[in-house]
Amino acid sequence: MRTINAGAITDVVAKICLEANIKAPDDVLQAFKKSQETETSPAGLEILNQLLENVKLAGETGLPLCQDTGLAVFFVELGTDCRVEGDLYQAINDGVRQGYEKGYLRKSVCHPLTRKNTGDNTPAIIHLDLVPGDKIRIKFMAKGGGSENMSRATMLTPAQGWEGIKKFVVNRVAEAGPNPCPPTIVGVGIGGTFDHAPILAKKALFRPLDQKHSDPEIAAMEDELFAAINDLGIGPMGMGGNTTSLGVKIEMAPCHIASLPLAVNIQCHSARHKEVVI
Ligand code: SF4
Repeated sequence: MRTINAGAITDVVAKICLEANIKAPDDVLQAFKKSQETETSPAGLEILNQLLENVKLAGETGLPLCQDTGLAVFFVELGTDCRVEGDLYQAINDGVRQGYEKGYLRKSVCHPLTRKNTGDNTPAIIHLDLVPGDKIRIKFMAKGGGSENMSRATMLTPAQGWEGIKKFVVNRVAEAGPNPCPPTIVGVGIGGTFDHAPILAKKALFRPLDQKHSDPEIAAMEDELFAAINDLGIGPMGMGGNTTSLGVKIEMAPCHIASLPLAVNIQCHSARHKEVVI
């Protein structure tokens, strides 16, 4: 059994919160560059150029990629042969507190009704999975409000099947229009239960853009949705064009025979995420 001190987790979390908010992930950067070659709308292309300029400036100045530095979302995979000495949840929240403070990152968390800011960007949203092994994998995402607000969950009837899923996902992206700051990454969760589908959709957003689903049938569904979404013509920041999305990622889970849970979690172009293994 390997022991990891909670303090080490706090340090790592503080570091990745800071870095992810300033440096765009490589897969997103590559997707921007690829889109520059295929975007047909001059206005859309100009936006893509500006987004890349924004990435460059953030890197040079150490300023955040976007003013909305997001709510801190974590997917943590804890090895069953790994023991955390101390409180894991507290360690992560301490890291968020420190990282957001050190980077002068905007604190975006508030009471849902009084709207009083918690002042330190906590509590983080933490999903914890137990996995084999003696390591801990921490995946962080700074989730902006604009794109999160455009996400939706629904319960389809089983008879609606793939056609119903496709219709709902494409309509959702169409209705969202420029609001989630396209080009977006669209996470789709299919199956599970009413509460599980959105978690699958959010988990899907962590898969690298150049990595298709390991199941060829699901990969083909991702391609089909990707083409249909880009045919909408919304374009970068809603300025028109064929780059409405940089990628569509689906995660699926078995569900009840009477149900077909479905969730769409939209990620903006400022897809700030980072993962680390301790
Ligand atoms: S949706 Fe994304 S890019 Fe748009 S304001 Fe929010 S964090 Fe920034």
